[in-house]
Amino acid sequence: MATKIPLYINGEFFQSKTTEFKNVVNPATQEVLAEVPFATPAEMKAALDAAKTAFKIWKEVPTPERARMFLKYQALVKQHHDEIATILSKENGKTFADAQGDVWRGIEVIEHACNIPSLMMGETVENVARKIDGYSYIQPMGVFAGITPFNFPAMIPLWMFPMAIACGNTFILKPSEQDPMTPMRLAELFHEAGFPKGLLNVVHGGKEQVDFLLTNPDIKGVSFVGSVPVGQHVYRTGTEHLKRVQSFVGAKNHMIVMPDSNKSQVINNLVGASCGAAGQRCMAISTVVFVGESQKWLPELREAMSKVRPGAWDDPEAGYGPVINPAAKARIENFISTAEKEGAKLLLDGRGYKHPTLSKGNFIGPTLISDVTPEMTVYKEEIFGPVLLTMNAASLDEGIAIINKNEFGNGTSIFTSSGAAARKFQHEIEVGQVGINIPIPVPLPFFSFTGWRGSFYGDQHAYGKQAVRFYTETKTVTARWFEDDIQHTGPANMTIRLS
Ligand code: NAD
Repeated sequence: MATKIPLYINGEFFQSKTTEFKNVVNPATQEVLAEVPFATPAEMKAALDAAKTAFKIWKEVPTPERARMFLKYQALVKQHHDEIATILSKENGKTFADAQGDVWRGIEVIEHACNIPSLMMGETVENVARKIDGYSYIQPMGVFAGITPFNFPAMIPLWMFPMAIACGNTFILKPSEQDPMTPMRLAELFHEAGFPKGLLNVVHGGKEQVDFLLTNPDIKGVSFVGSVPVGQHVYRTGTEHLKRVQSFVGAKNHMIVMPDSNKSQVINNLVGASCGAAGQRCMAISTVVFVGESQKWLPELREAMSKVRPGAWDDPEAGYGPVINPAAKARIENFISTAEKEGAKLLLDGRGYKHPTLSKGNFIGPTLISDVTPEMTVYKEEIFGPVLLTMNAASLDEGIAIINKNEFGNGTSIFTSSGAAARKFQHEIEVGQVGINIPIPVPLPFFSFTGWRGSFYGDQHAYGKQAVRFYTETKTVTARWFEDDIQHTGPANMTIRLS
C-alpha cells in the first residue's frame, strides 16, 4: 500500500482522519508514489488555531533571531538539495537538472529572508514640524496562507513562507495535491531547523480546503500561484472577504528575434525555453515573433527542436520530462489538433509520442506550429506544454504591438545585437519580466517577481521588497517631544514625560 502523506500542524506530523485521498503519481510511469489526504474541516481549523497562537509569540521574537533561524534553515535545505530534487523529479517528472534548479531558486529566497532586519527597517524624518518627528515601523499582521501549483513544488512554496514568517507572521501552506511530497520534505527540514511550533502548518486538499483559507476572517492574506480560473476565484473570494490577495496566474510569453541577433544562440535558447520542463513553466517561451529576415531561420529551428526527446527524470539524454498527468496530455494534444483545424501549420507534431520503454508516460514530443494568428485558440489560451508557436512581424514596432495586445504579461525577451532595439523594447513592452538576449528572465529574490496584466491580480509581487510590503503593515508615528518638560533626575531613575 502506498504511503499516506501526513499533515503538519502545530509542530507535529500526523495522519489525517479524512476518508478522501488522491494518488500522487510518477508521470513517467504512472507508479503510485503516495496518497495525499484532503484535510477535514477540524484539521483546517486546528492549523489555523496553531498559527494564531504561534503568532502571539513569534511576532515578539527579535528580527535578528528570526534571521538566524532562517540561516539554519538555508543550511539544512542546501545540505539536502539533491535529495529534495530527487523527490521532486519523481513526483513532478521534470529532469534532475531542472529539479535542482527548482530547489536552488527556492534556497535563494530563504537567503533573502535572512536579510529580514534590514528589509523591515522603517523610515524617519526629523522635524516634520517644529520639534515633531515622523517615523514608521513595519509590523507583521498575523496568519497568512499560501496556495501553490504543481510546476515548481520547491521554489514556489519557498517564495512564500520564508518571507512571510521572517516578517513575523505565521503561515498555512496548501501545496498542489499533485506533487506534495517535495513541500512536505521542506516542512520536515523547517521542523528540524528548530522553529517554534505552529509557525508553518501544511494542509492538503483542493477547492474545499482553499475556500476555508479564503473565507476565514482570521487569515489576513493569501498568496496564490496557479491557473487563470482558479487564480480569479482566489482573488475574487479572498478580496470579497476583505483580505490581501496576491494571485500569480497564467502566461503567454513571447520572444522577439531581430535579424541582427546571433542565429545559433537564438535557436539554442528557443529550444530550451519552449520545451524545457515540458513547457510547464510560467516563464516558458511559447511564442516566437520573427522580425524581418530572421523568418528564414525557421527550418533550422525545426531541425534543432526535432532532435530533442522527452524522457524520465534520471535519463541523462532526456531534454525534458512528461507532462504532469494524462488529462494535461490530452488537453495539450487537443490544442495542437485545434491549431491545425484553425489553419496553422504543424511543422513538428508531438501528439502520440511513444517513448521506447516508458509506454505509460505522459510524454508529448516537441511541437512547432507556424502561421499562427492572434485569433487562433492556440494563441489565446495558455497551453503549458512543449509547444512553440511562431508569428512574423515586419518591424520591431509591429512585434511590440503583438505582445502588448496579448492578454498576459508575465515574461518576454528580445534577441538582438542592437542596443537601440533592446532599449526601445525594454521601455515600450508592457510585461513584468523582460529579457535581453536572455530567454527566461526570472528575477533574483532581491528584486521581485512581477507578472503584469492578465498574469497577476493584486498589488504587491512575490519575494523582494514587495513581498515584505505584502506580508506587513506600516505604522506611522508622528511624535511631539517637549524637550523642556523632560525631567532629568539622574541616569538610574531618569523619567521622560511625553505629552
Ligand atoms: P491550478 O490552478 O490547477 O492549481 C493551483 C492550486 O490551486 C493548487 O494548490 C490546487 O490544489 C488549487 N486548486 C485547484 N482547483 C481549485 C479550485 N477550484 N478552487 C480552489 N483551489 C483550487 O494550477 P496548476 O495546474 O497546479 O499550475 C499551473 C498553472 O500555474 C499555470 O497556469 C501556470 O501559468 C501557473 N503558474 C503561474 C506562475 C506565475 O508566477 N504567474 C508561476 C507558476 C505557475
